[in-house]
Amino acid sequence: MTVNLLGLDSEKLAGFVAEIGEKPFRARQLLRWIHHFGENDFSRMTDLAKSFREKLAGQAQISVPDLVRGQDASDGTKKWLLSVGGGNAIETVFIPESGRGTLCISSQVGCALECSFCSTGRQGFNRNLSADEIIGQLWWANRALGRDPAGERIISNVVMMGMGEPLLNFENVVTALNLMLDDSAYGLSRRRVTVSTSGVVPAMDRLAERCPVALAVSLHAPNDALRDVLVPLNKKYPLSELMAACRRYIVHAPRDFITFEYVMIDGINDTVGHARQLVRLVEEVPCKFNLIPFNPFPGSDYRRSSDASIERFRGILNEAGIVVTTRRTRGDDIDAACGQLAGQVRDKTKRSGVAA
Ligand code: SAH
Ligand code: SF4
Repeated sequence: MTVNLLGLDSEKLAGFVAEIGEKPFRARQLLRWIHHFGENDFSRMTDLAKSFREKLAGQAQISVPDLVRGQDASDGTKKWLLSVGGGNAIETVFIPESGRGTLCISSQVGCALECSFCSTGRQGFNRNLSADEIIGQLWWANRALGRDPAGERIISNVVMMGMGEPLLNFENVVTALNLMLDDSAYGLSRRRVTVSTSGVVPAMDRLAERCPVALAVSLHAPNDALRDVLVPLNKKYPLSELMAACRRYIVHAPRDFITFEYVMIDGINDTVGHARQLVRLVEEVPCKFNLIPFNPFPGSDYRRSSDASIERFRGILNEAGIVVTTRRTRGDDIDAACGQLAGQVRDKTKRSGVAA
């Protein structure tokens, strides 16, 4: 079988190049061609010796996920559905904002964690994405979007906030992160690459050691009783352990704060009491908050908090000196908002009680 070079970071590519008896600098050349220039055809890599190109064509390939469809929202948001075989597909979303362009990518087909407010969680879990399928999303979007007139890449930020729990697919995610950060590949700064986790505590420590990028933690509740319901993983790693892990991560983080994501669900986690409890909970963690108005999806009984309760909640955090942003809902007309990414998941877990 031939190797897919798309998912090899510089260290792994150096190993491959050595194995086929080529000089180490070839690895860097290949990285530039594949990721910097977005080339997937060896015959067009014009500064590589013909004999080397022929050798590559015999032993390797650059295989990207197939594009099923692309959709454009009226606000400039774009969404791509990529097939990853076996009847499964994943979604990737591009969100343009003034001064930056953010690509939201997926790490798994479905998710095993069953957060009660998340459409991906409701669909069940099929498998981890391989490193080439993770970086393939950036490869694709980058090729589709290209550069602005000043020569800057349109995609300036990447967030791992699509389908799946990135820290439960640790090795493949780290390999893909290495490629995002590599100057010969995408050259993004650590501050502009964010991993979002629902709180897999041991893996947060490993990420700090292996690849400390910006971290977002999906908090969603100020106490264990409520968080156990919204984010069932909390039963394994309760809030006291999660807060301690956040404090440890800060030491290595490229930014001096953790971002807490908090989905605002009407009457469930958005009262004045919840806000006050939250202020006490995060007292010792340098943080910013990102309030995400709940995005409904078929089969969910939750409702989005009213603008007034979001403002009230935000006010209480602000008074305590916490910086808060409220995420605007983007791409509403193409179901591209947080928690709405569906793709196609053939559930291998055969989960019962999954809403259609
Ligand atoms: N598994 C990771 C990353 C993917 S989810 C995590 O949970 O952090 C990315 C973000 O979208 C998380 O903060 C998640 O809580 C949020 N989200 C999920 N479903 C949502 C919904 N229906 N409405 C708004 N945000 C949602
Ligand atoms: Fe998985 Fe994140 Fe959705 Fe929870 S919110 S089910 S961890 S994708």
